[in-house]
Amino acid sequence: MDTKHLYEISQKHMWLPFTQMKDYEEAPLIIESGEGVRLKDIHGNEYLDGYSSLWLNVHGHRRLEIDDAIKEQLDRIAHSTLLGAANVPSIQLAEKLIQLTPEGLTRVFYSDSGAESVEIAIKMAYQYWQNKGITEKTKFVTLANGYHGDTVGAISVGSIDIYHRVYSALMFNSFAVPFPSASWHPSGDEQTAKEESLAAMRTLFEEHHEQIAGLIVESMVQGAGGMHMMPAGYLKELERLCGEFQILFIVDEVATGFGRTGKMFAVEHEGVSPDIMTIAKGITGGYLPIAATVTTEEVYEAFYGDYKEMKTFFHGHSYTGNQLGCAAALANLAIFEKENLVEQAARKAEYVKKLLTEINTLPHVGEIRQLGLMCGIEIVKDKATNEPFPAEERTAYRATLRMRELGMLTRPLGNVIVFMPPLASSYEDLDEMAVIMKQAIHEIS
Ligand code: PLP
Repeated sequence: MDTKHLYEISQKHMWLPFTQMKDYEEAPLIIESGEGVRLKDIHGNEYLDGYSSLWLNVHGHRRLEIDDAIKEQLDRIAHSTLLGAANVPSIQLAEKLIQLTPEGLTRVFYSDSGAESVEIAIKMAYQYWQNKGITEKTKFVTLANGYHGDTVGAISVGSIDIYHRVYSALMFNSFAVPFPSASWHPSGDEQTAKEESLAAMRTLFEEHHEQIAGLIVESMVQGAGGMHMMPAGYLKELERLCGEFQILFIVDEVATGFGRTGKMFAVEHEGVSPDIMTIAKGITGGYLPIAATVTTEEVYEAFYGDYKEMKTFFHGHSYTGNQLGCAAALANLAIFEKENLVEQAARKAEYVKKLLTEINTLPHVGEIRQLGLMCGIEIVKDKATNEPFPAEERTAYRATLRMRELGMLTRPLGNVIVFMPPLASSYEDLDEMAVIMKQAIHEIS
């Protein structure tokens, strides 16, 4: 392998997603292979995968059962369209997903990414009301600081200023209600933040429910917003309010689904069953781009009828329901069952909590937030006052570059270091990752 040539071509012809290419030029990284929770670059350097290759790897890399399932599927067919024709693994996967997702969800609509599963949810909710003849219901409600993906529809229901402001002229307007976080509320009190957020939601629903098609929220954790957890009872109350005001409740499980929070889906923490649920990332164990929007029979029936009624759901991409991806997802879910992985992940989360307690003693660590194996470590200038470092110093980013030198990969979210190891990380792997994080954070000055 000509590593110099690869490097030069990557500099000359590549444009990486969510990446300032000047940063990449200063600290390039080219991954060549992976095994278990380790990735290897073209120079032979190894890195622990501390962010599950962007929050999706479940069993580590090159898991034999998933590799074999893809190879077996390749011997039959790699892809055929799902437009007007189902395929075998997509049907088998739909059956499995309906068994795993909350009661009431009965229909699976496939797509290729988390953002697309959200686009579909938005279009589906909008058209549901159109098809029912309730045409004024066209608006969406979201939570401030939410993230649902980067396509134009998904950013229209997202509200992280740094990602969304630049595209504001392209976006449709949504209502945003404050997220109930103690750390953002002036009182610093979670219960007060929760009550105020719910009161704001109720007021908005009372005034505008006739125009509101759906409420979309991340499930229990605002991930990209910096790993902020919802208070207990909040998601359940949102479900109740949506029911009261005839608003579709859309829950985004793209980041939280498939064991990440210590339950198969994070809605299980609250016993919530949404009208529409979006899933992606961990669905194939982190192997291939499959996503899905799962909904109820009631939503589905609003689209069912003679073609001339024009109720058809007009959405579908070339690779929707790809057979290789569905085969990988089936193998992934079989391992979940065989190894009781969700319970194992919940136990590992307890272990991680202890490891993070040690990290919490470091001088530049502020709040540490965690649900399951979804963790955010806030980096602050002053521990006593929680004063952040100036944004332009990019302290958390620099700390993750140091982690890379020490042998672990992750990406920060502003001043928050993300720690999301693969669910199947061993206790020794977790120890190693914690040692690296501790050293890099300790060196912050
Ligand atoms: N929704 C949530 C909650 C996410 O965290 C993400 C990505 O991080 C997305 C949607 C978008 O998923 P994707 O990157 O697969 O498009």
